[in-house]
Amino acid sequence: MEEVLRLLLSGGIVSGAEISERLGVTRAAVWKRVEQLRAAGYQVEAVGRRGYRLLSCPDALHAPLVERGLRTKWAGHPVCYQQSVDSTNLWCKRLAAQDAPHGALALSGTQTAGRGRRGRVWESPEDAGIFMTLLLRPKAHPSQVAQLTLLTALSVAEGIEAATGARAGIKWPNDVVMNGKKVCGILLEMSADEAQVQYIVAGAGINVHACPADLVKTATCVDEACGRRVLRADLTRAFLESFERRYAMFERSGEQEWIDDYRARSVTLGQRVCVVGADTSFTGTAQDVDALGALVVETEDGERRTVLAGDVSVRGVMGYV
Ligand code: ATP
Repeated sequence: MEEVLRLLLSGGIVSGAEISERLGVTRAAVWKRVEQLRAAGYQVEAVGRRGYRLLSCPDALHAPLVERGLRTKWAGHPVCYQQSVDSTNLWCKRLAAQDAPHGALALSGTQTAGRGRRGRVWESPEDAGIFMTLLLRPKAHPSQVAQLTLLTALSVAEGIEAATGARAGIKWPNDVVMNGKKVCGILLEMSADEAQVQYIVAGAGINVHACPADLVKTATCVDEACGRRVLRADLTRAFLESFERRYAMFERSGEQEWIDDYRARSVTLGQRVCVVGADTSFTGTAQDVDALGALVVETEDGERRTVLAGDVSVRGVMGYV
């Protein structure tokens, strides 16, 4: 179905004969795939004997929709899509084991076992969001992975803004927020030995059309925050474009410009926060995000404490942010 879609997206009327020749399938098989496209919400016109023309596309995540007009060299090459998976991070690890390249994207319309940090559940209502994981094969030391967590959050926030025009902020380290509520959670996992990262899977779940009803106190969705219905393929593409640009900055060692842009989007800096670790918790004022992505918090008695992402949860003293 994706191959037929790709041909139809190239525009104009495409003849059944051409499709069957290009794909090496029978005319009956072409017709069947056109019917599948229609069932998936694509409006495909049969133009007399001349062929088929695509009139409109639904809000779907099929790879050709995301790839259409994608201005990246490696991010999202390829896009691998399935309507339902256990978790896009798990799927992406399987793709990594099959030698998928740096930049491969595992994308799905729902997850049956989506996860957040420290094994918590990520709710993934069907076709209400974007569930995706990017495979990275960086020449990086394991200690740099925390920075990539922040960089992923920055890229999601920028992608949302590029696709919608609405402002998105970041709650340190990696929750993307709109109107003070969470629209996206991020989970990076790595396979590494002591000296070298083998690969990283950078996963993000974005609430686009809805958010789980039991979480409305702390969560919202992009549509609600920007006041219109956003196409998920457009948002995915905008994320990939932002990520590739930011990643190039990360690779140019020493360039910390993206950290400044991260700081500018932070909804945590300047706030009184409660830092909750495995054994202890403390409150203070969030002063800075340092060059390595750690949060610098000044406690009530004036002590400056540096908190690493991955170790803790941070809550606003007055609520979620
Ligand atoms: P925090 O810093 O807020 O504790 P976290 O970054 O550790 O969050 P995540 O790993 O992003 O948490 O996600 C897990 C948490 O996110 C769950 O505990 C749940 O409360 C919340 N959550 C799960 N699904 C969704 C969703 N679709 N939208 C918003 N929040 C969600």
